[in-house]
Amino acid sequence: MSAIVIKVSTNEMKKITQYYQSDRLAKTAPYTLFTAKKNQTTITVYQSGKVMFQGANAEKEAALWSNATASTQKKTVAANTLPAGFSEKNAIGSDEVGNGSYFGPLVVCAVYAEQGHLSRLKEMGVKDSKMLTDQQIRAMAPKIKALVPFQLLTVTPEKYNQIQPAYNTVRMKVALHNQAIRLLLEKIAPQKPETILIDQFTSEKNYRTYLKAEKHAVTAPLFFATKGEQYHLSVAAASILCRTVFLDALDKASKELGFKVPSGAGHPSDLVAAKILQIGGEELLGKYAKLHFANTEKAKIIAHGK
Ligand code: MG
Repeated sequence: MSAIVIKVSTNEMKKITQYYQSDRLAKTAPYTLFTAKKNQTTITVYQSGKVMFQGANAEKEAALWSNATASTQKKTVAANTLPAGFSEKNAIGSDEVGNGSYFGPLVVCAVYAEQGHLSRLKEMGVKDSKMLTDQQIRAMAPKIKALVPFQLLTVTPEKYNQIQPAYNTVRMKVALHNQAIRLLLEKIAPQKPETILIDQFTSEKNYRTYLKAEKHAVTAPLFFATKGEQYHLSVAAASILCRTVFLDALDKASKELGFKVPSGAGHPSDLVAAKILQIGGEELLGKYAKLHFANTEKAKIIAHGK
């Protein structure tokens, strides 16, 4: 479904709510001031001054307002920029896991799913890995691997700590997504995907800027969407494969250390990190954790009993 978001002034917000007054809906969601439905389009006015037009005639309705003032910004959400029938195309999808977790690797995966594979993936229950239990993910991963071509790349914490000072994490992720896609393209050649969808982690502009630094940059046919798994199952499958590698790495770390190594970057991570510091200092911690996270300093304070 197409959706358009524009930013408007307080004055325009008033005009918009007046204009759609007779089509107003009773329901209001959090952070919204006003909701109306007209012309098969839902118009939602947010407290932030953003107005979303969603539905069959979103563009037409938004166009009534998008030239209202110089401050108006027209922003099209990702779904609107994807070609029609996107979810049915032969596509490479890529995603990553572990970026927000203090412990464990950063894992990127690209999956190639042809039309013929999509219904099989759906039958397996492939969807956003965040909506699946670890057990479900682990059960699905081997089936996905048996069905579709994929390319996994893992950056261990040790490697991550070597690269990170020179590469910021966004640049690192661009390099990894590009490499996974490029290697997968080689694997499936002479077949070619109709499209490539990257689960969006930075603006397209940023991605393309960092891409220029890559030797073998894949520049087309690239598309970006946040919550990419909703637009193509290849992204969902990629996220499941990433997650399995990530979970296995945490399990392995837990076994080596003899205590449970948590996911995420909360206080439990600080406590476990402090324990590791007491055993083997920063050298040992660097084998398991992404040291530039704030958790490291917190763990040092805990470990040294200050
Ligand atoms: Mg993602």
